[in-house]
Amino acid sequence: MSSLTITERIQSDLPELLRLLEESVNMDSPSKCKELNDTMAQWYARQFTRLTGGHVETVKHPVAGDRLLCHLGDGPKQVLLVGHYDTVWPIGEAGRRPFRIENGNAYGPGVYDMKAGLLQAIFALKALVESGRFPTDKRVTLLINSDEEIGSPTSRELIEQAAREAAAAFVLEPPMEPTGALKTARKGSGRYKLTVKGISAHAGVNPQNGVSAIEELACQIQRLHAITDHARGTTVNVGTVHGGIGSNVVADHAEAEIDVRVATSEEAERIDAELAALTPFLPNAVLTVTGGMTRPPMERTEATEALYALAREIARTELALHVEQTSTGGVSDGNFIAAVGTPTLDGLGARGDHAHSPLEYIRIAEIPARAALLARLIESC
Ligand SMILES: [Zn+2]
Repeated sequence: MSSLTITERIQSDLPELLRLLEESVNMDSPSKCKELNDTMAQWYARQFTRLTGGHVETVKHPVAGDRLLCHLGDGPKQVLLVGHYDTVWPIGEAGRRPFRIENGNAYGPGVYDMKAGLLQAIFALKALVESGRFPTDKRVTLLINSDEEIGSPTSRELIEQAAREAAAAFVLEPPMEPTGALKTARKGSGRYKLTVKGISAHAGVNPQNGVSAIEELACQIQRLHAITDHARGTTVNVGTVHGGIGSNVVADHAEAEIDVRVATSEEAERIDAELAALTPFLPNAVLTVTGGMTRPPMERTEATEALYALAREIARTELALHVEQTSTGGVSDGNFIAAVGTPTLDGLGARGDHAHSPLEYIRIAEIPARAALLARLIESC
C-alpha cells in the first residue's frame, strides 16, 4: 500500500534523523538567548533546504531568536505546520547531559519538547517529495518559532498571520500520553498580578492605625480561588505571594501572582471582568490588578472534528495506529492558530514523556508511523 512506502522511507531515513536529532539536541537554545537561537535557526534552515528542496525565509527579530518560514510546494491550498526550537533549558545544559540513546529511547534537553517533532515533520515532507507524492494542490509552510516556551510574546503576530492564510494547521507539540492522543482543544491562559497597598504601623504601639495589606491579600486569595469552577473548565490559582517586612510591622504592601485557565472565550471575558472589578475587604486598602489573558482557548470546532476524523481514519486503515483526541489545560501556539478560526490538530510531534524535566525522552520506534501520519494528513486534508 502506498502509505507503507512513506512509513518505510522514514524508517530507512531513521539513522539520519537520529544523527540530526543528536546534533540539534546538543545545541543549547534557551528562549532568551538570541545568539544561540539564531545559530539554531540557521541549522534548521540548512536541514530543511537540503532534505526537502524547499526554500526558507528567515524572519529576523532584534531581540528574540530569528524565526523561519520554510516553504514547500506552490499549490493553491495552504497547509501550516508549526513548531518551536527554543527549549526551557539554560546555556550549558546540553554539555551537562548530552543526547543519548538507551533502551530504544532518546534523551536530552528539548528532545521531546520539541526537537524530535521538528525533524519528524521535515522527514515527513522529505518522504512526500522523494516518493513523488507531494500534493500538487498544496503549499506547505513550516513555521519554526523561537519563543514558544515563554508564551510566544514576539511571534504571536507572525503565527496568527500565517494561520489566517492556512486551510489547516498541524502543530508539532508532543501528543498526550499514555495513549498518544491528538489535542483538539486547549484551555486559554492568563497571568495576572494583584498588588495590595495598606498602611504600615507598629504592631505593638499603634496597630489600630494600620491597614494590613497581608490581611487584605489573604481575603482576596480566598475570593480568587472560589472563582474556580471545574465543571466549566475554569481555574484560578494564586501561585506566589509576597509581602511585609517584619513580624512587628503592619504590612503596607503585599502582592500575588495569579494563573487563570479557561475553556471558552466567554469564560475568559467573564474572569477578566471579575478580576478588574475586585474591591477591597478592608477600608483604606487599595487594590491594583495588572496582566491579562495571554492565550485564547483553542476551542473544538466542526472543522477540527473533521480533521481529527481524517487523522483517525488514516491511522486506523493505513498505519495500524489507534489515535484518540483529547483536551488539555496546557497551552501552545495552537491556541493562537485555532483562535483565528483555522482548523487545528495539535500533538503531531514525537511520542515520549516528561517535558520540562531532566527525565524527558522520546520513543524512537514510534517516529516512522507518527511522521507518516503527518505526511498522509498533508496529502489528504
Ligand atoms: Zn514546552
